[in-house]
Amino acid sequence: MKAVVLHAIEDLRVEPRDERPLGPGEVRVRVESGGICGSDLHYFHHARMGDFPVREPFVLGHEAAGTVAEIGSGVTTVAVGDRVAINPSHPCGACDYCRSDRENLCADMVFLGSSRRFPHAQGIFAETFATHERQCVKVAPGTPSRVAALAEPLSVVLHALSHAGPLLGRRVLVTGAGPIGALSLAAARHAGAAAVEITDVTPEPLKAAEALGADRTHNVAANPGSVADPARPRGRFDVAVECSGHPAALATCLQQLAPGGTLVQIGVYADARATFPMDVVMTKELTLKSSFRFAREFPVAVAMLGSGRLALDPVLSHEFAIADAMEAFRTAADRRKSMKVHLRF
Ligand code: ZN
Repeated sequence: MKAVVLHAIEDLRVEPRDERPLGPGEVRVRVESGGICGSDLHYFHHARMGDFPVREPFVLGHEAAGTVAEIGSGVTTVAVGDRVAINPSHPCGACDYCRSDRENLCADMVFLGSSRRFPHAQGIFAETFATHERQCVKVAPGTPSRVAALAEPLSVVLHALSHAGPLLGRRVLVTGAGPIGALSLAAARHAGAAAVEITDVTPEPLKAAEALGADRTHNVAANPGSVADPARPRGRFDVAVECSGHPAALATCLQQLAPGGTLVQIGVYADARATFPMDVVMTKELTLKSSFRFAREFPVAVAMLGSGRLALDPVLSHEFAIADAMEAFRTAADRRKSMKVHLRF
């Protein structure tokens, strides 16, 4: 079988890989679709994540769905032919975090497609992938694989929104209209938000956000004052979801949150020491929360995607065969061209 393997900065190769035998409780999934995430792009451009360089040939990818092709001994929850989304998160299940429903903070996490450990936790961008049956969540019939492959990013978004408290009747600002911002918009609408507005600095993602039902979109590069309402100088949003990882967007969130509002940070900061106006946080008694990956949201996300209640077509912008993985990654890196790019296996 073939896999998409990163060797060095922008050195991505489609290479043959041996299939390993299945252990007890394991299944082999014929992967059909894999979504390229911002972290995959970060590895592609930098061959590292923070303090963790890529030190061996590294299969990327942690957003994938496919069909069960083979089952090992003792497997009971899935059968050959079942269509599944693959959960890339392998918490230890035994530490204090795992035992208190905060498994995303697990002290001994293995997350697929991450260079944090060595040997690295190899990713899912491969024609087949062997994993434990508990990592496979069955997908409703008729759900396209690239929609099912959104289960991981949607889980990230559902986890983040859970930190915001109930959204029913709330006014929500999302900053950054890439795939995570777009899914946040869709999920906040689904959760009953009264209005969801979204910002970006390029027009193309905002068009997708309009198609997803944004109440207002703001191009803050073309019109920096667009979000502000002179009639409500202390801000007009109950919740802000910061998806861009840019200090200017964080400042917009803090200025435009009404007193008592809550910010949830999902975006990853390029500058880990970014500053923000603490006086605004203090005088408006804002709540700052952060969100990292997801905990138990994965099956919820799979069910939501299978229900068809989130119309996410505007998020699905491109699909490439794995032979064209380089072009897929270059397209995914261009925010003027693409939203979520999927590889087809
Ligand atoms: Zn744990």
